[in-house]
Amino acid sequence: MEEDNQPFFWIKSEGEKKLATENLVPGNQVYKEKLVVKKGIEYRLWDPFRSKLAAAIMNGLEEFPFENKTKVLYLGASTGTTVSHISDIVGPSGVIFGVEHASRVARDFLDRVASYRKNIMPILQDARKPSEYFSVFGKVDVVYVDIAQPDQTKIAIENCEMFLKKEGYLFLVIKTRSIDVTKSPKKIVDEEIDKLKSKFNILQTIDLHPYDKDHAIVIAKFKS
Ligand code: SAM
Repeated sequence: MEEDNQPFFWIKSEGEKKLATENLVPGNQVYKEKLVVKKGIEYRLWDPFRSKLAAAIMNGLEEFPFENKTKVLYLGASTGTTVSHISDIVGPSGVIFGVEHASRVARDFLDRVASYRKNIMPILQDARKPSEYFSVFGKVDVVYVDIAQPDQTKIAIENCEMFLKKEGYLFLVIKTRSIDVTKSPKKIVDEEIDKLKSKFNILQTIDLHPYDKDHAIVIAKFKS
């Protein structure tokens, strides 16, 4: 294996190189992903069909700001599939504030993910009300937004204004069919990008096909 502090790995499994993260909680599985031990280290395969961040890596993500000690505000934690891999990456000195408003989903997130991983702070709140998050302290390096709401870009911007450090990164998942079914996906993405431009430099837009056919991710850097 290559150097030891890299964020993710390519592990040979069933004759193919597969994306993986080093398991922060050895023996612990989150979504029935395969665990692979190499040279005494346990890795969790990271499924790009289940996690849009993994799909973005597969499709050529150029800047990866998640590393050891990174602080992340994650909106739309759901049951924690992607959050769990980010938790592996940022390690015990990093932190992920995982916001989820649906209580049933949040319960699963707590029971299956957050309770095993000390670097995850679950926040059961509406991402539309960032001033009500009780436990976010200081500024974060990355805001990751995957909430599939028509006003998600506005919500993303408000959260960044409150919690993202200058030059920090925004990862915005855009559900290209949820906002307006009559518009083409490219038009939808371009319109959301236009809303970001005054406050962010747009770095990359990644179509997640074939892993996910209805989403794109926009990666942007916060100007102030
Ligand atoms: N990011 C997750 C992953 O990769 O594992 C999947 C996220 S899922 C597509 C969207 C989640 O956002 C749902 O669990 C939903 O309950 C949550 N959500 C939607 N609107 C929200 C809001 N206003 N505040 C907080 N969570 C919200």
